[in-house]
Amino acid sequence: MAEYSDFRSDTVTRPTAKMRKAMAEAEVGDDVLGDDPTVQKLESLAAEKMGKEAAMYVPSGTMANSIAINGWTKELDEVIVEERAHLYNMESTHLTFIARVLPRPLPSNRGAMDPDEVERSIRKPGVHIPRTSLICVENTHNNWSGAVVPMENLKAIRKIADKHDLKMHFDGARVFNASAASGIPVKEYAALGDSIMFCLSKGLSAPVGSMLTGPKDFIDFGRRVRKALGGGMRQVGVLAAPGIVALTEMVDRLKEDHERAKKLALAIAELPGVSLNPDHVETNIIIFGFNHPKISIPEFLSKLKEEGILALATSGGRIRFVTHKDVGDRDIDKAISSFRKILAGA
Ligand SMILES: *Cc1c(COP(=O)(O)O)cnc(C)c1O
Repeated sequence: MAEYSDFRSDTVTRPTAKMRKAMAEAEVGDDVLGDDPTVQKLESLAAEKMGKEAAMYVPSGTMANSIAINGWTKELDEVIVEERAHLYNMESTHLTFIARVLPRPLPSNRGAMDPDEVERSIRKPGVHIPRTSLICVENTHNNWSGAVVPMENLKAIRKIADKHDLKMHFDGARVFNASAASGIPVKEYAALGDSIMFCLSKGLSAPVGSMLTGPKDFIDFGRRVRKALGGGMRQVGVLAAPGIVALTEMVDRLKEDHERAKKLALAIAELPGVSLNPDHVETNIIIFGFNHPKISIPEFLSKLKEEGILALATSGGRIRFVTHKDVGDRDIDKAISSFRKILAGA
């Protein structure tokens, strides 16, 4: 794939040389028995970065969200989610399949749910009615083109959670991107969630894994859920080691991804068939409508591929480009010229 400029996702990054070295040299033990010093180091580092009591390394962001929802809810509960949330749309139904709770999707303004509507949606249990126990928020918001959800909005929702004695789980898969774009420290975001998860395997470029952080008793219970889901891993320090490199060395470069995404967005927003407001590209994800009289989305993507550019179609007649460590300025320029060439010929 080396010849392609791969914009499909920020999960396609390859580990850096430092990560490979850290993997080779990692001290390991059986993590299910609590013996892996590298995993322990990563977990303490993650807890400290988020300002939480405890953290747990998990194989994926999906598992982190699933464990969090299991930790904060009981069967017959309802969970308030944003209607385009990743954990509601893109995680193979674990809310119902694993936690057996009812999702209550609410609309939003680019990921920011209306706090009054959140409050109105909270249900007290009755013979017909589930108990609302949890509110989930996501920031940056993947399917809203990597939108940075405003701090005031998240705070207003937190207030409602407190008022009604609900928990709040923060899907911070890309919370470091949110922080890079807003200048707000990740700890301030993390403080809003009873729990927060983030991915090491997205813009931070580690090969595998996510971190779930929160109170110690929640994480202790989470370790049991992780085992039940088949996520107990043995000498997993070899995977945690590049996660440490991700957290200590890969955070500061995220703003480069944002600058490149903005450059690409500004260039393609003008082109025929593309509907995109470049102001809505705040971080590393560009999602735009594509509706051209002569060329369909699959045709356009296959022509891009012929030019060496990979991107993905997403729901609602849209196309998604994501910037990351392994696409540089040359890839951006190549993408822009390929867009122009294909659309000029169409
Ligand atoms: C990618 C992603 C996840 C899930 O992470 P995986 O490691 O792919 O399971 C969760 N939430 C958001 C917002 C994501 O973008």
